[in-house]
Amino acid sequence: MSGSAPVTRVLAIDDSEDIHAILRARLEREGLVLESAASGAEGLAAVLADPPALILLDLGLPGMDGFEVLRHLKDNDRTHSIPVIVLSGSDDAKDKVRGLDMGAVDYVCKPFDHYELSARLRVALRTQRLLEMLARRAQIDGLTGLWNREHFDARLADALATSARHGAPLALAYGDLDHFKSVNDTYGHSAGDAVLEGFADILLGELREADVAFRLGGEEFALLLPDTTVEESIAVLERIRASLAGVCWPRHPDRAITCSFGVADRGVGGSWEPSAWMEAADKALYAAKNAGRDRVMIAHGEEIEPAPC
Ligand SMILES: [Mg+2]
Repeated sequence: MSGSAPVTRVLAIDDSEDIHAILRARLEREGLVLESAASGAEGLAAVLADPPALILLDLGLPGMDGFEVLRHLKDNDRTHSIPVIVLSGSDDAKDKVRGLDMGAVDYVCKPFDHYELSARLRVALRTQRLLEMLARRAQIDGLTGLWNREHFDARLADALATSARHGAPLALAYGDLDHFKSVNDTYGHSAGDAVLEGFADILLGELREADVAFRLGGEEFALLLPDTTVEESIAVLERIRASLAGVCWPRHPDRAITCSFGVADRGVGGSWEPSAWMEAADKALYAAKNAGRDRVMIAHGEEIEPAPC
């Protein structure tokens, strides 16, 4: 195993060998790897096979022209967010406007100044990194750093589709901190926040690599455990429950915090719809609360039972 840093790959779609040679030499000095495609069709195939960080796109191409390539890139969910810089022999304002309006991030005329092109490339890559960071942030809970509700909805749908396709087990657990409102009311919201952060740390510490934790809102959490039967999930959930119960909280050392879990391995009515799975996990959690809290309850669809000790 080599410990090399990830490379940033740039794909040039251009029918001129010379342009590829010039770009390759220039980009290497920037620490970028240039990949080459000589036509639009070849370029689109390369992008789909292994999406690059950025595309340099010629307009005058044999067969499919650059505008058409750009349209294909922007029409496809898998490729539409890859930044494209048009690199064209035309300095016609109409072409520039058209390319930029179709979604290119920049337009550079050939022959280009190497330093200027490199600088524009760096700007495009920097902007892309910021956009990706913002997109990630929009799916992360600000207090705990766990994924948020929005991301949960997408991940649950994905996990259910994968599980259904491969016939693999999946466990969905809902967790809720017991009597959390009284922690806030008695010790203040900063103490409550400390409990939420502490619980998130426990989740991240106890979950296995493929498991994913979410804060759905307030003191409600969800755990997605792929390739895991409900029975297997109990061990994980019991570990989390025991860890939390054992924490001595600096702000309220004589007040332990517990949590209740409801876990489901199928949807209500046997459905694979996310809403049916959420309903099953919710019913199990409700049953855990009603049975006295600080415990795990299981829902096999409609049937609720306590976790075996
Ligand atoms: Mg050309």
